[in-house]
Amino acid sequence: MKLEYFIETLEEEVANYHTPVIDLIAVQTRDPFKVLVATILSARTKDETTAGASRRLFNEASDIYDLACLSEKRIRELIRPVGFFNNKAKYLSRLPNALKPYAGKVPDKLEQLLELPGVGRKTANLVLSMAFGKPAICVDTHVHRIMNLWEFVNTKTPEATEKALRKILPIQYWIKINSILVTFGQKRCKPVAPQCDICLFEKDCPKIGVTPRQIKNEGTDSMKLISWNVNGLRAIEKKGFIDIIEESGADIFAVQETRAWPEQLSDELKNIKGYLSYFTKARKKGYSGVGVYTRKKPLNVNIGIGKDQFDDEGRVITMEFTDFFLINAYFPNAQHGLKRIDYKIEFNIALFEYAKKMADKKTTLICGDFNVAHKAIDLANPKANEKNPGFSIRERNWMSKFINAGWVDTFRAFNQEPGQYSWWSYRFNARSKNIGWRIDYFIVDANSKSKLRKATILTDIFGSDHCPVQVELL
Ligand code: SF4
Repeated sequence: MKLEYFIETLEEEVANYHTPVIDLIAVQTRDPFKVLVATILSARTKDETTAGASRRLFNEASDIYDLACLSEKRIRELIRPVGFFNNKAKYLSRLPNALKPYAGKVPDKLEQLLELPGVGRKTANLVLSMAFGKPAICVDTHVHRIMNLWEFVNTKTPEATEKALRKILPIQYWIKINSILVTFGQKRCKPVAPQCDICLFEKDCPKIGVTPRQIKNEGTDSMKLISWNVNGLRAIEKKGFIDIIEESGADIFAVQETRAWPEQLSDELKNIKGYLSYFTKARKKGYSGVGVYTRKKPLNVNIGIGKDQFDDEGRVITMEFTDFFLINAYFPNAQHGLKRIDYKIEFNIALFEYAKKMADKKTTLICGDFNVAHKAIDLANPKANEKNPGFSIRERNWMSKFINAGWVDTFRAFNQEPGQYSWWSYRFNARSKNIGWRIDYFIVDANSKSKLRKATILTDIFGSDHCPVQVELL
């Protein structure tokens, strides 16, 4: 399909969908200050939350002079709970000073916008197009993802997508492409479980890297389980975690490294619509911890594996359902200098013994962050990491022993490709360069391999240094 035809067809399609909040503010106010502020607020935030925060802030600060009178603390109170509200409050409190060279006006040049606090390329391009009507291509996660899944571009980062689109997209589409694809991406072609079954492009779409939502038929449906090391549940709540779960279509959503006691979690996190939730508690505050969101009430829930030295760190929760057990585990990190490798291997052995007893009774799945890449194919730089935690010989040997005992690494049951990772360091732009490790797994007992339908890594989902992994089984 030609790109122009795709965009024009989509423009008609999304005309009746809900309009993205920045478009609304741009049309309603025609005010560059409000468009800039709302765009800063909108990063990693649901549209409804951005709309509420913008309304509260603009009630007290309808222009840059009013904003200059608000303290950072007051701005934070007004914009909460947008994602990264602490940082955004800082940026907004610095904005009046930053706009002084422009006599308090928002500049209409890309380079000048990029110098303002909290303004990156995406925000600058959106302000140029929405507030000033200048031809600029704003590439956010939806534009980047949808252009790649259709193979209109083949890029790793939003910046590269913008560059590629500048070459192939006729200029009359530059301003509107963001609004069209954001609307489509929020409503139909969602990052998790896109609604391909009712999409007008269902037949033509190449669906590169896409796992469409499943419509469940009573009695014949498979079950979808997702596992994610969230690197702090309270932190990821601010990055759209609740939306991700609600839109995932998962029957069970397991999380690791929650880093919070259950009583420290917000009611919203504990009561996600359609799910029951269960959490462990490490003795040390802000450390380790796992949790499970499940649509079905489990028959039994067991916290820990009956060994205090591991259970004190809140590393395991087990759920029994009619047909299967789910063990959700956060394996210890061997740590720098392999300081904690003995502890880790002891944990691994204990968990292995524990899981064997379950598998004798019924299907048993183990999911979680195993903190080990099994083979060279499972990390970008195996040679350089041979002695490092997560790829040391003792850790890999344990994993081999575990797999050789018949447990199935579900992802490798379907995919033998290199370059498939679930964790990337926050440093050196590792994720955009795909310098990663596959250390998050769904493992199933040998007798239940025939129940597997699919196993994937959800690399389109952001918010942690890990991305989720998913399995579907009958
Ligand atoms: S068919 Fe699915 S993946 Fe393709 S555009 Fe439609 S919703 Fe997106």
